[in-house]
Amino acid sequence: MKCMKCQGMMYADRFYSRNGAFQGWRCPMCGDIMDPVIFLHRISGDHDIPIPERPEDLIRLIQKYLKPQPAAAGRRNERNSARGI
Ligand SMILES: [Zn+2]
Repeated sequence: MKCMKCQGMMYADRFYSRNGAFQGWRCPMCGDIMDPVIFLHRISGDHDIPIPERPEDLIRLIQKYLKPQPAAAGRRNERNSARGI
């Protein structure tokens, strides 16, 4: 996995908090930490987004944000049609 801040290579690590341990990734270059919740916040741009309790629902929500948005697909089609594609 590449770091979203410095593009360095991240490695898997285990983190400990008051609420227990969790698995994530750490960048040795800039010290950034990434886990699925942090990743969802960054790709959604919504820091108040409700986080699903079940891991499979969290992954489903992340996949929703990773899919190309319909507006972007429409723009791509307009560009392609202008070139006769
Ligand atoms: Zn980094």
